[in-house]
Parts: sequence; C-alpha cells; structure tokens
Amino acid sequence: MTAPKRRSGRIDPSTTSIATRAIHGADLRAFRGPVAPPIVQTSTYRFADSGDAVRYAQGDPEVYVYTRYHNPTVRQAQERLALMMNAGSALLFSSGMAAISSAILAATRAGDEILSTPSLYGGTYRLFRDIFPRHAIGVRYVRPQALENIATLATRRTRVVYCETPTNPTLRIIDLYRLVKAVRKAERRLGTRILVMCDNTFATVVNQNPFAFGVDVVVESATKYLGGHSDLVAGVVAGSAPFIGRVHTQLKYFGGCADPFAAFLLLRSLKSFTLRVERQNENAMALSRFLERHPKVLRVLYPGLPSHPDHRVAASQMTESGGKGFGGMITIELRGGVRSAVRLCNGLRIAVNAMSLGGVETLVSIPVYSSHVAMSTRELARHGVTPGMVRISTGIEGIDDLQRDFALALNRV
Ligand code: PLP
Repeated sequence: MTAPKRRSGRIDPSTTSIATRAIHGADLRAFRGPVAPPIVQTSTYRFADSGDAVRYAQGDPEVYVYTRYHNPTVRQAQERLALMMNAGSALLFSSGMAAISSAILAATRAGDEILSTPSLYGGTYRLFRDIFPRHAIGVRYVRPQALENIATLATRRTRVVYCETPTNPTLRIIDLYRLVKAVRKAERRLGTRILVMCDNTFATVVNQNPFAFGVDVVVESATKYLGGHSDLVAGVVAGSAPFIGRVHTQLKYFGGCADPFAAFLLLRSLKSFTLRVERQNENAMALSRFLERHPKVLRVLYPGLPSHPDHRVAASQMTESGGKGFGGMITIELRGGVRSAVRLCNGLRIAVNAMSLGGVETLVSIPVYSSHVAMSTRELARHGVTPGMVRISTGIEGIDDLQRDFALALNRV
C-alpha cells in the first residue's frame, strides 16, 4: 500500500489504505463534532423558508427534503463506501437485492438483454428467471470456461454482462480480466456500450477490487461482510457518478432506500471491516486445510486451496492483485448426501446453523435447503450444487475452537 502523501500538512484520502478510509472516510482534518456519526432519524426536513424548496427544485444537492431521496447518515455511508471501493460514487439500498435489481433496471429497458455467468446467488437467479422476462428483459447464460464467447454472443440488445465471483455456493472464480476483454471486443464489433456488473459480496474490496479489472459497476449485499454482525440488511451499488445518478432515479421511484439506522450500523461496522475480513480469511484458510484432511469430507471448495479448480485465477485476481486473501466462504461436500449435511449442521455447537453469511460468528447452511431451494435437478446441476453440500461462512472465533467443533460434529455424521 502506498504511504499517505503529505502536502502542506494535508493527507489526500485517496492515498490512504482501505482500513483508514473505512474508519475516517475523507474526514482527514480537524473539526468540532461527534466522533461517532449522528443518526439523522427523520423522514423529512425543515426548510428555513421556501427559498430552500426553490434551491431543491433547481437541483441543489445540499438541500435535504425527504429521506427516500437523501439522508445525511445514509450519504455519509455512501461516501465512505465509494472512497473504500475507488468508485466515482455509491448508493446504499435497503438490501442487496434492492441494489442489484435497481442497478440492472437503470441500465436496461424492455427488449434488452443481460448476458450472465450461470452460478449466481439464488435470489439473483430467480430475479433473472422469473421477474425480468415479465418485463421483456431477457437473460442468456455464458459458460465461465468460455468467456471469450461473449465477444460473439453479445447482440445490439445486450446492455449488461453480469457476474458474481466467487460464486455462491460453489466458490468458482470468474476471470474478470478475460470477461471485460471479451465485452470490450463485443462493444467494438457492435458499436454499443455494455456495462459489466459484478457482485463482489463474497470477496469484498479487501480481497478483490473488480474496478481494477475494468468492471463498470460493483453491487454488493452489505448485509454480509460490510455489515459483519448479522444485525442489518443493506445493499450497495458503486460505479461512475453519471451511472449512479441513473440508479438514484430507480431508488427514488422503486423506493429501496436504506434506513438511517442501518446506515449508522454500517458506518460502525466499517471501522472493524478490514480486521474482520482479514481474520475471516485466515480462519477460512486454516479450516479448509483441516477439512480437506478429514475422511468424512468428500470435497472442499475454497479458492485459496491449490486443489480448487480455479486456484490460479483466484490467486492472480485476489492476492496477487493487492487483495488480502481468498475470503471467508468455504463449501464442503460430504459423503452420504443431504442426510450427512443435516447431521453435520445439527451437531455443531460453536458454528451456528443459520442462513446468510459474513458475520463475526461462523454460520453453516445447506444450499439445497437455503440459497438454492426449489430448483430443478437440471438447475442445481447448472449451478454445480449437490445435496451433500454445506456452506460455511467462517467467523472470527478462535481457529482451534472451530476445528474442534467441526471434528466433533463430523465424528457424529
Ligand atoms: N448477492 C449475494 C452473493 C448474496 O449471497 C446475497 C444474499 O445472500 C445477495 C446478493 C442478496 O443480498 P440481500 O440479502 O442483502 O438482499
């Protein structure tokens, strides 16, 4: 990381580490005020007089009128996230799904098409399968092993190329460099503009910055690692300021605005964000090595293990490009299918049997009963999901305790 540059006693926030940005944002100056951000828990704002209303009507962004449009606590979180992610701008939403749907709707209209890699969080997959086609927005899938095909598969209707990496729950890695290269080639052939959108929920900016590979828009469920304490639901869209302006229009009219209290919790969580993720990286690396040696475990999917099918791409896209590690998510496949998966989850005493991920506590879930519930055998095969899989979101507990917990529970499987 580059050393902070000093010029006339000032430090440029864009030269500081992600940890410093997450804690201080751009507030690198002396000023009088609270250290913790105030929660501006209001739906509307008083005007000094109607001059404020006129200034608002003329587009002055400093005039607050209504919390669905703007809120100081929410804005503080947005500015913090944009700075951390090296984005022109960012918006906070009420959930990751509100962020994803609004970002895509800002880029598409009826008759348009999305090209996507097939392994996606179940909610995103269902949005693509069940909702977008009803609005005449089509989705076609591209094999991650053949990303080059995007250059020829894209048509004049293609507006968005969407991906998620690492994927949920199989932890496959999409090669962002190859993906972006193929999209730019398609743009040159077609003379159109195609937005590359990446869900960075599993990696987070600590481990992977999609913008560094030319991705245009990053979406993320802030419910997970950014929030980190399993106590808030929120989502982020980050990208260029003009595009985020279009997403803000969606936010205003679909109404997926973040609540000021969720923004406060998120700002508080960001202060320990890099520490948490670094510890989750370490614990996941150690736990995955331990699980790989266990006879009851058929397969361990963790991008940091040399045995992972995409380990080389993961290394070059994550750790070798400035990322701190391979993330906190591990998926294991047990001998004995879903019965063994259920027994393992029931037997754990430290790891919590709960959906979601990214919190300080280790969570386990069974994909066929959670993120990938009610999918056909063909769909499960396309996502690479099997009944014996258990997804582990590694927390920050003592690693010896976690290994003991898994050893005891696996003995009872
Ligand atoms: N993206 C990924 C990779 C997820 O795992 C999830 C939720 O599990 C989402 C998006 C949706 O986020 P939220 O639950 O905050 O709407």
